[in-house]
Amino acid sequence: MTPLARRLAERIRRDGALSIADYMSEALGDPDFGYYRKRDPFGAAGDFVTSPEISQIFGELIGLWCAASWEQMGRPDPVILAELGPGRGTLMADALRAIAVAADFRRALRLHLVETSPMLRQAQATRLAAADPTWHDSIATLPAGPLILVANEFLDALPLHQFVRDPSGWRERRVGLDEDGELAFISNAPDATAMTALIPQALRDAAVGDIFETRPAAASLARALGTALGIHPGIALFIDYGHEASACGDTLQAVRRHRPEPVLAAPGETDLTAHVDFAAFADAAATAGARVWGPVPQGAFLAALGIAERAEQLLRHATAAQIAALESACRRLLDPGEMGTLFKVLALAHPSLSAPAGFAEGAS
Ligand code: SAH
Repeated sequence: MTPLARRLAERIRRDGALSIADYMSEALGDPDFGYYRKRDPFGAAGDFVTSPEISQIFGELIGLWCAASWEQMGRPDPVILAELGPGRGTLMADALRAIAVAADFRRALRLHLVETSPMLRQAQATRLAAADPTWHDSIATLPAGPLILVANEFLDALPLHQFVRDPSGWRERRVGLDEDGELAFISNAPDATAMTALIPQALRDAAVGDIFETRPAAASLARALGTALGIHPGIALFIDYGHEASACGDTLQAVRRHRPEPVLAAPGETDLTAHVDFAAFADAAATAGARVWGPVPQGAFLAALGIAERAEQLLRHATAAQIAALESACRRLLDPGEMGTLFKVLALAHPSLSAPAGFAEGAS
């Protein structure tokens, strides 16, 4: 058992089973043992690789997307440029380098980062010192005003609840203890939560054994942003893996050193994520006042932003090894069998804004 598993087992013995959301929050965010608190999980030597860590092109294109969005918004000065969960700061460092060509935007932007991990804040501070960022624990403290926000693989780490359909209805799936005192999934706890009301009507009659996932933290983020974007000019870009329509399925997964592990095996030492339900996220934002664009597949989005042209520029001065690396990076980002389709891009915008770069008019 990991030290965090022992602590969770004690808590379960004392207070009863945990929701999956509580388990995720503790496993990722516990101040002493949480996965994101103490380590840098990214890259080949870490546990997983994200798009900005695959190639500089990713962050550069997002930077150019931000500059184009700023033009669409009527060049507000100042403008808040915010990132949620910036990791090592790689995406923003590449974005700011690309933004250097848009000097007016670069001067107007004020960089705000939403990050809970002290260790990753440190990495971001080193990487992004020139842009003098301000950090926040949540979006609640972002200043009001014109906003451009980006978030890559942020929503997939937010805690979610799971419900299991049994013959008598839906029950919340929880983390309890088995006879040996080890962490184990249980779904026999009486279903006392009102949250089953969040299960869409069309999925209520799912087959026995089906699992439905719901993520209140994402819904409240969508509502807060939807409200803000209904008032001030602004646009928010979310890139993540997940499904376009709400659906049943157990998508919670743990990863360590690029391999899947059982979800309950090593809390605090494995990354935990689950698919984003883009339909639920979009609905919450639209109800609060934002216009929703997409989701579109990541491959199509990057193609529309000109990834092929940018790669070609880089290839002109590249060595054979660099060419091979760049081609392989583009394949990973774009191929339907890799990140091209499972990863999707969604934008929330002020209702007066026309189609953001990478999204076609009529596609929302
Ligand atoms: N965007 C980066 C990192 C993705 S990993 C990339 O693409 O490489 C998730 C990031 O979100 C990490 O920086 C993690 O510390 C942060 N994070 C996770 N949960 C958070 C929360 N509730 N509030 C703020 N940041 C969070």
